[in-house]
Amino acid sequence: MKGAKLVLNGASSGADPERVQRPLAPVISVVIPCYNEEEVVGVLCARLFNVMTSLEMPFELIFVNDGSKDGTLNMLLDLAKLYQEVKVIDFSRNFGHQIAITAGMEHAVGDVVVLIDADLQDPPELIGEFLDKWIDGYDVVYAVRKERDGETWFKKFTAETFYKLLNRFTDGRIPADTGDFRLMDRRVVNSLLTIQEKHRFVRGLVSWVGYRQIGVYYERNPRFAGKSKYPLKQMIKFSADGITSFSIKPLQLASQLGFLTAGVGFMGALLTLFLKTFTRVTIQGWTSLIMAMLFLGGVQLIILGIMGEYIGRIYDEVRNRPLYIVQERYNFKNQEEHTRQTLHNSMQRSGVSSGE
Ligand code: UDP
Ligand code: MG
Repeated sequence: MKGAKLVLNGASSGADPERVQRPLAPVISVVIPCYNEEEVVGVLCARLFNVMTSLEMPFELIFVNDGSKDGTLNMLLDLAKLYQEVKVIDFSRNFGHQIAITAGMEHAVGDVVVLIDADLQDPPELIGEFLDKWIDGYDVVYAVRKERDGETWFKKFTAETFYKLLNRFTDGRIPADTGDFRLMDRRVVNSLLTIQEKHRFVRGLVSWVGYRQIGVYYERNPRFAGKSKYPLKQMIKFSADGITSFSIKPLQLASQLGFLTAGVGFMGALLTLFLKTFTRVTIQGWTSLIMAMLFLGGVQLIILGIMGEYIGRIYDEVRNRPLYIVQERYNFKNQEEHTRQTLHNSMQRSGVSSGE
């Protein structure tokens, strides 16, 4: 209701008419990646239905089952039988959170697409607020976390470090403390779907495409049930994806460190020559030699590792495998809609995401 009313307000307000030209009855697609979330999908679905029906707009809930090993798929299928709005994409295995989100966006037909985690850390009730901003003319409305209740100090610390690093490397283009919880206009989604990268850092890509973007503050709740699917290893991979897909600064580190160590070496040589020529002091060798060797060896290995990260990613891009494979789709009944979407995707991504 709130949103519907605002559409009319927006249309009649004196603001820039181009900014408020939104469809009167927009279709809302909500994309939810799910990996072993049997404990939460029921409650999540109930809350989403509450919110969406109160908005009085047509909607679809696209659940992407990312190779769950528990009863998630069965629960989703039960929901899909009951409600036409519930659509399910079932991956052939686990392809990862960011790929699941991408698949959901590719299948969405809405005028706006909302990305939300399954674990209720992102309150669905915020979608109304997102819509208000969209109606005001913003194309991307992302949620910024005020608090991180129920998360360990370790998670908070690593997240903070990650955003600091990311900001350093990307000149602060990606807003800190935002997850993937956001609303995007159709234009933004279409632009995102033209990006063919395999290592996808979706929130960074959304910043990269531009358009009018705004943040909305919210308090992030603890996970409703179940465990985080981002153990340390996953977090490191995710951070590496984030940094390497938006910056080549780590590669430039090699030359900077090279100049630095060469400079130190040169000064050292000058000092030794001076001491040898003008004084009787002789510098003892072994310890300093070993230290310098170990230090330089370590630096070289680190730089090689960084280069490896980039080369590995280039390899993945060149191999050009499909992003994901869909085992089955449920409730995507409208064949015309599906064909249109498939055609659109294959044109945009030149056949990259198979799934067909
Ligand atoms: N997720 C997924 N595939 C994965 C890992 C996670 O689809 O391989 C989903 C998960 O079900 C959840 C969302 O991604 O809906 C975020 O995961 P999680 O809550 O575990 O991350 P955290 O909030 O701890 O960063
Ligand atoms: Mg979570």
